[in-house]
Amino acid sequence: MTSSPAALRWLAAVSDDLSTSAKASVLGLVTMPAPLPPAPEGGEPVGSKTVKLRSFADLCGPDLAAAMTPSTVVLQPIGAVEHHGSHLPLATDALVVDAVARAVASEAPDLDMLVLPTLYYGLSTEHVWAPGTVSLSPSTFLALLDDVGASVARTGAKRFAFLNGHGGNTHLLRVAAREIRARYHLYTFVLQAYAPPEHGGPPPDPEEEGLGIHGSLSETSVVLHIRPDLVDMSRAERSVPSWVNRYGYLGFTGGSEFAWLSNDLSPTGVAGDPTLATSDKGEEHFSAAVAHIARVVAEASRFSFPTSTDGGGPVQGDG
Ligand SMILES: [Zn+2]
Repeated sequence: MTSSPAALRWLAAVSDDLSTSAKASVLGLVTMPAPLPPAPEGGEPVGSKTVKLRSFADLCGPDLAAAMTPSTVVLQPIGAVEHHGSHLPLATDALVVDAVARAVASEAPDLDMLVLPTLYYGLSTEHVWAPGTVSLSPSTFLALLDDVGASVARTGAKRFAFLNGHGGNTHLLRVAAREIRARYHLYTFVLQAYAPPEHGGPPPDPEEEGLGIHGSLSETSVVLHIRPDLVDMSRAERSVPSWVNRYGYLGFTGGSEFAWLSNDLSPTGVAGDPTLATSDKGEEHFSAAVAHIARVVAEASRFSFPTSTDGGGPVQGDG
């Protein structure tokens, strides 16, 4: 999709300071092909150009094929455009996952990784009751992921990873990853764009009773860190669904789950306490996520099944 000059002029007029990603989300682009931050020394010479080798879409096709090695991980960041309470932007998940992918690319320059344009839309059925949520249907989402997987396989890549920024996407990402593994023989991975406490992330805040999953302290803090201009803390409200903890066996996750819509959890659609959010906490959570994802991508780069003969097989020198 291309945007009309009039629409772009309007956007520029109403928001000079909007980033390219925010403009893309406002204009409803499915993907956001903004460049990654400059690579060290401004990029790598390829032919007569200087390009950022980590950005899949910045390369031309032949250079992409030449850049691909058996250990290259092609990373697909995926977010959502959905209600996040009255204090956070609709594109929160897309903005966060995009920022994590860019930061990993710039802070871990030795990773053998190519980053696809961030996919803004995901599966947000739980938030369609609220205005502004733009959700793909499950069948569209699966078909889209499969098409991207097929396209990645045609590049000669052997490794494909989803970097997910929205919990509601997770179940179908797992389904898609297995289908892509079976159909195209790629090593396929599902990565979550946060660091769990056991892998260097901060522990959950006791004030949220383990229920801070949406528009919460952590998520709000991260957006305060990366895009403070899009957060309105005067509208942040505590909405911790404490009633969930009255059940001993059923929960959001953990084996025995109830299906939920976000307005089943609280009238605001928020689950957590965003009033406790600060930019400093956001920096801590964001840095932990970036460090964690860099380590996971490094592992994905050398991962192999002991008995596989497809999916590229064991990488040379990898035992
Ligand atoms: Zn979110």
